[in-house]
Amino acid sequence: MSKGKASFGKMNKSVHKNCRRCGEHSFHLRHRECSSCGFGKTSKLRSYSWQNKGGLGSYKK
Ligand SMILES: [Zn+2]
Repeated sequence: MSKGKASFGKMNKSVHKNCRRCGEHSFHLRHRECSSCGFGKTSKLRSYSWQNKGGLGSYKK
């Protein structure tokens, strides 16, 4: 596949839409879950220690 106009034809399918919970454009329409906050997958906010955004498992120097 080449870059540019030739590949634009595949952009008519949207995979993600804006998440109702976090507002990110990360809600997967087919999986029905948000890749940013985990909405649809878990009732808690999706959070990993490696995100280093605070929350569970976070540490500060
Ligand atoms: Zn979300």
